[in-house]
This record gives sequence, C-alpha cells and structure tokens, in this order.
Amino acid sequence: AKRSPSKLRCPIICIMGHVDTGKTKILDNIRRTNVQDGEAGGITQQIGATFIPKESLLERTAQLNKGEWDLRVPGLLVIDTPGHESFTNLRSRGSSLCDLAILVVDIMHGLEPQTIESLNMLRSRKTPFVIALNKIDRMYDWTENTNFPTQETLSLQKDHARREFQDRYDKIVIEFAEQGLNVAKYWENPDPRTFINIIPTSAITGEGMPDILQTLVDLCQNRMNERIQYVPAVQCTVLEVKMIEGLGTSVDVILINGKLKEGQTIVVAGLEGAITTQIRALLTPQPMREMRVKGSYIHHKEIEGAQGIKIVATGLEKAVAGTSLLVLDPEDDEMELREEVLSDMKGVLARVDKSGEGVYVQASTLGSLEALLEFLKSDAVKIPVAGIAIGPVNKRDVMGASVMHERKKPEYATILAFDVPVTKEAHAMGEELNVRIFTADIIYHLFDQFTAYMEKVKA
Ligand code: GDP
Ligand code: MG
Repeated sequence: AKRSPSKLRCPIICIMGHVDTGKTKILDNIRRTNVQDGEAGGITQQIGATFIPKESLLERTAQLNKGEWDLRVPGLLVIDTPGHESFTNLRSRGSSLCDLAILVVDIMHGLEPQTIESLNMLRSRKTPFVIALNKIDRMYDWTENTNFPTQETLSLQKDHARREFQDRYDKIVIEFAEQGLNVAKYWENPDPRTFINIIPTSAITGEGMPDILQTLVDLCQNRMNERIQYVPAVQCTVLEVKMIEGLGTSVDVILINGKLKEGQTIVVAGLEGAITTQIRALLTPQPMREMRVKGSYIHHKEIEGAQGIKIVATGLEKAVAGTSLLVLDPEDDEMELREEVLSDMKGVLARVDKSGEGVYVQASTLGSLEALLEFLKSDAVKIPVAGIAIGPVNKRDVMGASVMHERKKPEYATILAFDVPVTKEAHAMGEELNVRIFTADIIYHLFDQFTAYMEKVKA
C-alpha cells in the first residue's frame, strides 16, 4: 500500500500488567483534563478508546520538555482496558493491533504472575513497550509533587525516600533480568535498542505522567516511523460484537488506517463462516458533556483512522472479535476476501476435535480463545476440548456442553468461560441440564477451578 511519509497516524497504545498495579488509574490520569469541561483540551471518548490530541500532549509534558519537543503524531489513541488482558491479543491482518504498550508494575510488589504473562505476550507479538513503575507515592515519607516529571520529583525527595526508591528499583531490575530482560531508568538508558525504559510514576499524584506520554511518543516517532505512517488502505480490527436496542447488530472496531463510508460492503470473520454485509451506520459517541443522553450517537457519512467506531449492519451476531474487518470494493473478488478474513481463525479451529470428548471453551475474542486453547493443550494441563465459542455464554452453548452427558462423560459437561459474561437464561439452563459453568478473568484460575472439580468427581 502507498504510504505518505509526511502524514503520521495516531499510534495505538494498550496498558497491561498484573491486577491492582494501577492500569485503570493510569488510564484515568491520562484522560484527565485540567479544565472541568470534558471537551477542553480536545480529549475525546471514542468507542473502545480514548483520543489524546497533540495539544493535550504538549500541555501535559511542558514542564518536562520546556516547550522544546518535536511532536509529529496527531495524538495518541489509548485502548480502554476493561480490566482484562485480551486486548493484547487483538490482531490486525496478522500483526498486533497495538503499536505500543505500557506494562505497569507496582513498585511495592515487583514482578507478579500476570506481569510475566503480559511480558511474554508482548515479546511474542514483538510489541515495543515501556514499563511504568507505579505507586512511587506509597513509599515511606514520599513528598508529593503533583504532575511533576519523575527526575524533578526524585530530586525533591528526602534522602531516605530516595534511597528506598533506589533499593526497590534495584530489586526490580534483577527480577526483570531473571526474565531475560534488560531495563533502565529512561533518562539513564545506555541503549534504547536493548534496554527497556522504566518510568517511575504515580497515577494518583500524576508524578511521572508527563514522562510516560513523552517517552511513548518518542519511542514511536524514532523507532516505528514506518509502522505509523498513514496508509489509505483500510486496516480495521473488531473489538466487540454488540446488540443495540432499536438499531440491531453492531461491531465496535478500531479503524487504524483508511476511510470507512456508509453503504460500503464489508467482510467480517464469523464463527460459522465469513459474513458479507453493508454498513448501515457509522457512529461515534456524543461529546462528553452530552454522554448522559443514553444511546445517542453522532452519525457519519465517512470517517478516517485511527479511530474507535461503532458500525451498525445486519447479520453481525456471529462476528468474531479480535479479527480484521475488510472492505469489499467493486473491483475486489468477494471469495478472496471471505477467505482472507477466515485465515486467522483456521489455526484456532483446527485445534478442536469436534467429534471428540472434552470441555466446552468460551472466550471474549479470537486471541484470548487461542491463548486459552494453547494453555489447555500444554503438557502441564492437558484438558481436552470438544467445543468452542466466542462471546457471552448463551443457552446454545449450555446445550452444546450438555452433549457430554449422553456420551457418558459428565465431568466434561462443563463450560470454561474466560473473560465473558453468562446470560441469566444460560445459568438457568446450566442448572437444569447439569452443566457446570466456570468463569474467570485469569486463565490459570479456570484451570484451578476445573482441576479441583475433577478431583472431587473422581474421589
Ligand atoms: P488495575 O487493576 O491495574 O486496573 O488497578 P487500579 O487502577 O484499579 O488500582 C488498584 C488500586 O491501587 C486502587 O485502589 C488505586 O486507587 C490504587 N492505585 C493505583 N495507582 C496508584 C498510585 O500510583 N499510587 C497509589 N497510592 N495508589 C494507586
Ligand atoms: Mg483495572
């Protein structure tokens, strides 16, 4: 595709890390404007993401760079993480949706199981990232300097507070080294190509937040220039499939590159084959001050990336989150595009023996389903899988899992649901058909529940 070297798009950022390290608080802090009016500074809530415009980045980092900063991206698009990790697994035509990530570590706790899980995902997707060493304000006798750059606030601390910081930092450097990763304070980094930048932060006091924003932007401007050059060819990823009252089915997407237009024909991967349909509406939320008007959206005739958008169209019920959405132009071959959208799914579906005996596995996106299947297959776990689904657990899924009773494998009449809701009807049907539904947001919690249950059954 043709690139335009002069035009950069918004880099797409995701925030990862162990539970309670402060991911949500960091996102909240990044979103916060200095003025009461939500629209001031141009920060806008999009579908599934928050847009931080150039002006706001300049304002937030002014104390750090004294106004001398070559900022060339139009802003940052931060993916809203609803408390889980599956966003890392969103693909866009083979590569990861996220251009960059913030890996959050609690300075009081160091590396935790999900820190390592996140780290491994980032490495396998080759996603560049920075580390936020968060909650520095929790150290003994810390002097808060609201919204100060890290080095400035460190230099203003009492000796013992600075010493505690250094001790904890040194320990965490060793923990990362044990994972095979070189890390360094970003202002002391001897080689940004081999050392990952650490940025000490507090999401509560805002200390280090200017440093995070500036380091992220510098990282993509200096090292990922080619990746973030705007291209006119549509590149778009499905985040979530939703029903909206009065409008029918919709998908929330991140449009990375290109333009979408009302009336265009699109092709989306579905669990039971490719879906070809027309865009009936392109929606974005109302400006923040009007968000209270429930379900009101702005309609667009056309819209350009990078942006989070809601697309309304018929027949999207079985669309699969985490896969690419393609536009079918008049000169395109529909069969080719239908095959292309399904290509991501083939490997995942091939892993399930539909005629066999095993549990029923359900996840929020193709990526998280893939991660879960990978885990269940591993030597340490070895739980057989006979059925899969993506999205909320419905009656249909319970019926699917109940088949194992007929096959005299009642222990497999079980649904392992990762990071998805279970409908009331599905719960009721589970009771009726004696199908167990285990839910969790962390993969190994599902494993723990299921193994405990198996031991009980066998005893
Ligand atoms: P998440 O699970 O990673 O999204 O973590 P949250 O953002 O929900 O934060 C977990 C808890 O830590 C909450 O009680 C936050 O108020 C608190 N927290 C987050 N960041 C900081 C920080 O920088 N300093 C302090 N003192 N508390 C924090
Ligand atoms: Mg959270």
